[in-house]
Amino acid sequence: MDDTRKPQDSRLHDLPTPEPDSPSLLHPRRPYAFSTLCATVENPNSSHKDQHGSSSVPIYQTATFKGVGGEYDYSRSGNPTRTHLEHHIAKISSASHAFTVSSGMAALDVITRLLKPGCEVIAGDDLYGGTNRLLTYLRTHMGVTVHHVDTTDPTSVIPVLNPGKTAMVLLESPTNPLLKVCDIARISALVKEKCEEAVVVVDNTMMSPYLQRPLEHGADIVYDSATKYLSGHHDLMAGVITCNKDDLAKQMAFIINSIGNALTPFDSFLLLRGIKTLAIRMDRQQSTALLVAQMLSKLGFVTHYPGLPNHPGKEIHERIADGYGAVLSFETGDKELSERIVGATRLWGISVSFGCVNSLISMPCVMSHASIDPAVRAARGLPEDLIRLCVGIEDPGDLLDDLQHALLEAGAVTLAANDFVRIPNAVNKAVEKLALGEPMVRRGGEQQREWFVSAPGKVILFGEHAVVHGVTAIAASVDLRCYGLASPRNDGKISVHLCNIGDLYYEWDVNDLPWDAAVPILPGGTHPDNLDQRLLNAIGRRALPTPDRLPPKSHSAAVAFLYLYMTLTHGGLNKRPSFHLTIRSTLPVGAGLGSSAAFSSCIASAILLVNERINIPPLPKRSRAPSRAGDPGHVHLSHQGRRAIPPDVANEVNKWAFVAEKVLHGNPSGVDNAVVVFGGALAYTKPGYGRQSGMDQIQGFKSLKFLLVDSQVPRDTKQLVAGVAAKRAAEPEVVNDILQTIQSISDEARRALSDPELPRTHLLAALTALINENHAHLVTLGVSHESLEKIRKMTAANPYGLSTKLTGAGGGGCAVTLVPDDFDEAALRQLVSDLEGVNFRSYLTAVGGSGLGILSPYQAHRPRARSAAGRNELQVPMTPPETPGDEDEENIVFESLNSDFGSVDTSELSQWAEARGRWLYV
Ligand code: PLP
Repeated sequence: MDDTRKPQDSRLHDLPTPEPDSPSLLHPRRPYAFSTLCATVENPNSSHKDQHGSSSVPIYQTATFKGVGGEYDYSRSGNPTRTHLEHHIAKISSASHAFTVSSGMAALDVITRLLKPGCEVIAGDDLYGGTNRLLTYLRTHMGVTVHHVDTTDPTSVIPVLNPGKTAMVLLESPTNPLLKVCDIARISALVKEKCEEAVVVVDNTMMSPYLQRPLEHGADIVYDSATKYLSGHHDLMAGVITCNKDDLAKQMAFIINSIGNALTPFDSFLLLRGIKTLAIRMDRQQSTALLVAQMLSKLGFVTHYPGLPNHPGKEIHERIADGYGAVLSFETGDKELSERIVGATRLWGISVSFGCVNSLISMPCVMSHASIDPAVRAARGLPEDLIRLCVGIEDPGDLLDDLQHALLEAGAVTLAANDFVRIPNAVNKAVEKLALGEPMVRRGGEQQREWFVSAPGKVILFGEHAVVHGVTAIAASVDLRCYGLASPRNDGKISVHLCNIGDLYYEWDVNDLPWDAAVPILPGGTHPDNLDQRLLNAIGRRALPTPDRLPPKSHSAAVAFLYLYMTLTHGGLNKRPSFHLTIRSTLPVGAGLGSSAAFSSCIASAILLVNERINIPPLPKRSRAPSRAGDPGHVHLSHQGRRAIPPDVANEVNKWAFVAEKVLHGNPSGVDNAVVVFGGALAYTKPGYGRQSGMDQIQGFKSLKFLLVDSQVPRDTKQLVAGVAAKRAAEPEVVNDILQTIQSISDEARRALSDPELPRTHLLAALTALINENHAHLVTLGVSHESLEKIRKMTAANPYGLSTKLTGAGGGGCAVTLVPDDFDEAALRQLVSDLEGVNFRSYLTAVGGSGLGILSPYQAHRPRARSAAGRNELQVPMTPPETPGDEDEENIVFESLNSDFGSVDTSELSQWAEARGRWLYV
């Protein structure tokens, strides 16, 4: 694309440049090309010629200047080195004004200070993470409304343009790392048509002024993180702002001087030096980038680069930009394969950022974009396996060679007839499965192992009731747990003991169950949407007494257990596992805290485990991390630690827990079991309301302390939900406004909860405000109750000052109170006792913790000895992941936990369970 560079805007050449000494009218000289403009730095003010004729601009490393009335007095306001730099940047950017500040984010900070409270901003939905963070701050602290739209479709801005209100439109093109392109010219024109006063701002970091000058296409302000291409060497942080409008420039100059974030003299010098080679660096970088993109695309990897013929934004990009840039990304279809590839490169450095002369490789979802909520990443179509390449100036042959070797080493390609050929992913998966091996123990066809599982409850933090009308709800796991212990029986019977549900004990001869009505679903199979009515009827009639002869809720719990057991057990008469399952819970049953989802997850995981339909990976014999000896810069990217239940196991449990939930509730949304299995928090939006629907895990969610208070006032969920619907029908405008506000509360909570860089105190302050706000709206919707208001009042009273909201649709009559990390323990105990004093039940718990847990079946993770008191006590440290597994692991039979499990006091249950060994969690 280099040869086909478009002639640049004439304004560029009107700016002061080192003109030829004797211009000739007969043979006018051709205008200087960009690389010449870059390399030639002249004095912006000819009266200030350097006294010694220095070839390079000197560093005026001084804070003050002597004298009165001179051009410079104080370096915050102006410094000659910076003036040279800003003049140079204006020259190469088609701009009449340029400013340089301490970073790209500092540049955006200056620009967004043009906004006023109450105004609206339209921004792309695929922006740099730091930009999103700043916009969130403006939303929460400055009363600025932000609309995120898909800017690859220019018309998407139209519905949110609000004359008189829209103050800024913020664009990025191409985006990082998916290289999505937006039509800056078209969007600028559309914005000006409807909102003349709105300022169009473009983040041009991915292109630099060499390849794209948005001011020529209708943008009002352009900024770059000069940390990237403009500097080119990753040796400084800087941001530049350019514009052609005098009034905007005046305001920004005032802001920079006021806040004092202008670039220092030394960094100005470095940046000026870097810019001189911008064009030549970019030429080399982007020509190699094209070669790399073509190589990957030819091998069959989905490759994102606007220079490839199949890129959807190629035509727009070529109209607006002069080159394709040097960042590209590709998908392998498998996150672990991507990790292996990244780990196997040598020349490509694993690092965030881009624009440096050295080539970099990264996995955005694990690195630069890890701060973005995975749900948002998924909604933007950012694949977890995506590899980003930022091409440098090294020899193209060396870069291609290194990448090909990494692909080969990682098992992504193979060599056939002297050429690289991609290995299909199915083959990769099969190899992985083989490596996992077979961890289960069988003796004479009988299952010998005891399985101890647990699952948390859930709480709705924001958006209850509104969720019914299409608003997003935020649900999180709550660290009160249901526990299930499956112990082998080997007598041809199965039994359940539901300790908290009527203390029901029931047992069956396995072969007497109504198998004739069962249609077992084979491993890997999926349960149809509807329950098997024939099996349900058969269980109800032939395996259990009628509901009225069993304690409340225990009939449906027993049906759910048998339904799963009979659907998941396959292979005929001798293959039906015989075991006893005890279920105990620290969660209150029927309080709207997900006790049934926790129960469903426990029975699903226990039945899947005893049927060997899910496996826990064996202890690694040695680390499988791709490593390069002596190269600490290259890290193994996969997560390690306690969250060790593989995603496919969690997905399988979730699938079957949902089936059990259906047996219990008829038509569940699937939110409860998903929160319970996956832990943390998720955002759920019902389909059919014009918003992106579905469930999105909010990752990076930090566990928060909450006090759960059960008012013990039974409330009718259905009636409350119907009440809101009736109110909406009667006063649509009022209720729709409330729903809209609750949506912004949920959005805000989601952003705050998933921002790893938001200081904890800010997070707690934001949640406190959102809790109060959401509760007030629920009161207006008429779903609160005097007992809940009383709890709110008691928790808010002096000296507690805590924020409380009702939780759930009402059935449990529960309230949640956010407890700050440093809240005084004694005060908390007093509050609990005050609440208990008026008959409210309180549970101090953590929200957003682990999901499904399975006690590790490995000897190395279990206690080795019994204490004098006869109880198992953990006497060995947890085994680090790289410790070799015990060779005899498979022949060990553990002492049963069964007798103790039934008798431990409920208040000690969770501690007792934790001490049984190492739990693996989702
Ligand atoms: N804009 C984009 C597209 C970026 O990639 C970055 C940094 O990665 C920034 C802005 C922020 O720049 P800085 O890190 O210099 O503050």
